Amino acid sequence: SLTAGIVGLPNVGKSTLFNAITQAGVEAANYPFATIDPNVGVVEVPDERLDKLTELVKPKKTVPTAFEFTDIAGIVKGASKGEGLGNQFLSHIRQVDAICQVVRCFEDENITHVSGKIDPIDDIEIINLELILADLETVEKRYQRVEKLARQKDKDSLQEFEVLSKLKEALENDQPARTVEFNEDQDKIVKGLHLLTNKPILYVANVKEDEVADPDANENVQKVKEYAAQENAEVIVVCAKIEEEIAELDPDEKDMFLEELGIAESGLDKLIKASYNLLGFGTYFTAGEQEVRAWTFRKGIKAPQAAGIIHTDFERGFIRAETVSYDDLLEAGSMAIARENGRIRLEGKDYIVQDGDVIHFRFNV
Ligand code: GDP
Repeated sequence: SLTAGIVGLPNVGKSTLFNAITQAGVEAANYPFATIDPNVGVVEVPDERLDKLTELVKPKKTVPTAFEFTDIAGIVKGASKGEGLGNQFLSHIRQVDAICQVVRCFEDENITHVSGKIDPIDDIEIINLELILADLETVEKRYQRVEKLARQKDKDSLQEFEVLSKLKEALENDQPARTVEFNEDQDKIVKGLHLLTNKPILYVANVKEDEVADPDANENVQKVKEYAAQENAEVIVVCAKIEEEIAELDPDEKDMFLEELGIAESGLDKLIKASYNLLGFGTYFTAGEQEVRAWTFRKGIKAPQAAGIIHTDFERGFIRAETVSYDDLLEAGSMAIARENGRIRLEGKDYIVQDGDVIHFRFNV
């Protein structure tokens, strides 16, 4: 299954945040896809649409969708040279689908920083450089092999050589692969290389307890935002300490606590939503009297594959997908009125499922 990996230098708040994730998270055993591993936390995806659908349909049961975070400890300077735990760290990163990099933006004299000072950009660059160096090694190996074939004017090799040259140049200039522009064909070649710096990335700025209400007052947060903007990456601000406390509260207490802090949404909820998007996920819903449920799909898949997420029989015997968009359904106020108004579409096997679709699959058994 798809997973977002949490990385960061030592003492930036990774364990604290990961604790909050596992505390707030759900039993992996309830989700057949989930990995049972102490370094994996399974979280439910908060979604207001699911709450609204529940109000509308009044089912016996409501089931949110979920996905995984993996805690990846052990980044050190020199990881790409295979020092210490370095190799292990890189192989763990290779397995995740998106990266959440925790960056220390909080000052605390009692908690030492590996470089002796709080400098979020320095920290980000230490990690990114290790990933860039590891990728450069991958690209150079391939480059040497393809260069020979390209000289013999082999067409595929010429195209790959062009891609590798662009990547090599970027990486040599400390630019991550994700910042390089490629066309669709070239993109396929890049994907095949499984580069670390081509994975989508999100920066998690960890601030102090009293800074969450107004994080932009924190200069370090501003710096991280500027840095991320150049990379087209997103930044989420959290206070890991507070998230750890929130994770122990029940939902009513949580709302009260957030109000006291002057924030609308917990940092963890923001992180879950942002990571979900980063992974290229969308949500579709099924809404019956028994159960209203959210399902995660990879954006771009067609109706039969989406049906297969519920059950392989649904995919095999797929006939059609009776589909209404969440907005149309909500506007209609009930499935019956949506049907009367012609808002329920009969979609076939080539239909590309959209985020927010409410679907009833018809299938042969
Ligand atoms: P890791 O090495 O990145 O996993 O960092 P930890 O989660 O172990 O945190 C290192 C230290 O920083 C611990 O003493 C935490 O209690 C503290 N810490 C983590 N997050 C915060 C925070 O948001 N605010 C403050 N004041 N301290 C924090």
